[in-house]
Amino acid sequence: MTETSEQTSEWTLTAMDRCDSCSAQAYVHVKGISGELFFCGHHYNKANGDKLNSFAFEVIDERERLVENKLKGDDY
Ligand SMILES: [Zn+2]
Repeated sequence: MTETSEQTSEWTLTAMDRCDSCSAQAYVHVKGISGELFFCGHHYNKANGDKLNSFAFEVIDERERLVENKLKGDDY
């Protein structure tokens, strides 16, 4: 196994972070006024809107990693 720590260190979210809705790997971390939420790309698209915007004060969006995974042939 080859460690790719240089590459992964750019990202905040890890494979340990799971979507709150479906347990897929989380790519969006929303820090809100009363807690934190994790979303996969699919559920972030569903949840994104006025309700989420009024809750969130910080959104860490790493969905561009999905493109990277697709290039590797990893279908999320
Ligand atoms: Zn999900």
